[in-house]
Amino acid sequence: GKRTLARYIAKTILCAGKDNDMQPCGRCRPCRSFDEGANPNFRLIRNETQNILISQIRELIDDISIRPAEGRKVYLIEDADLMTTQAQNCLLKTLEEPPEYGVIFLTTSVYESLLPTVRSRVAQLRLKPYSVMEIMTIAHEKGIDLSGKEYLVGLSGGIPGRVFGLAADKSFEENRNKVMSFVFEGNMFSRLELNRFLSGNRDAFRSCLDILESVYRDVLLVQCSAGDGLINSDKQDNIIKYAKEFSPVDIMEKIKGIRDIRKNLKRHMNYQLAVDMLTLAV
Ligand SMILES: [Zn+2]
Repeated sequence: GKRTLARYIAKTILCAGKDNDMQPCGRCRPCRSFDEGANPNFRLIRNETQNILISQIRELIDDISIRPAEGRKVYLIEDADLMTTQAQNCLLKTLEEPPEYGVIFLTTSVYESLLPTVRSRVAQLRLKPYSVMEIMTIAHEKGIDLSGKEYLVGLSGGIPGRVFGLAADKSFEENRNKVMSFVFEGNMFSRLELNRFLSGNRDAFRSCLDILESVYRDVLLVQCSAGDGLINSDKQDNIIKYAKEFSPVDIMEKIKGIRDIRKNLKRHMNYQLAVDMLTLAV
């Protein structure tokens, strides 16, 4: 995806091999140091805490003002939407007028959440999400078996890196099974079961929220008679049955409940309270 592409372009820009301008030679010193993560003219900026901070952007600005011994300097700000507002504002002038040897890349999955002033200063390259078929082909080439796991594609927004990440995550299937019994059995026992599981498994919480939201999304789709694009297509029968038991308004309320829990967690809501809200109230 975009991460891989941005790194690839950065490496191409920094390559000193002269035989081909379109791709890195992979043999010259800049290429080799790039592969080792030690190219002095390449800097990766990403969040070390929850956000990308203004101090990190100040470091970039200080660094970019120093002319390289040779060639160019490339900066990659990953998940640029995690920049604080102050950090984004701090970056504006440099984005507007970088030195002629300086190149700055920003990657983000949520372009719209960047400040308009930042967006107006960058050239945007939107990577279309891959289709299920395309992801299956890539997986096949990589020797990854995704058969029967088409739902991973929808759950990860068609971003290959995330699909394969989920496929490799051993706990993911367990999380998914827990969520599915929670929704489709829908009794007090399954609620308490998920409650107990999440209470002792904080790492699984976000993943379970995502899975649960994807199920409710599917139910809504079925209720709007658009059952084609189901993420959890392997659970289609359950989803159709569930869609008959609840109204679209009920489902919207459930989705809103999940959104509220996400919001409250960002505001440092007590974790056990979040688990209780999810399993007993939503
Ligand atoms: Zn090279």
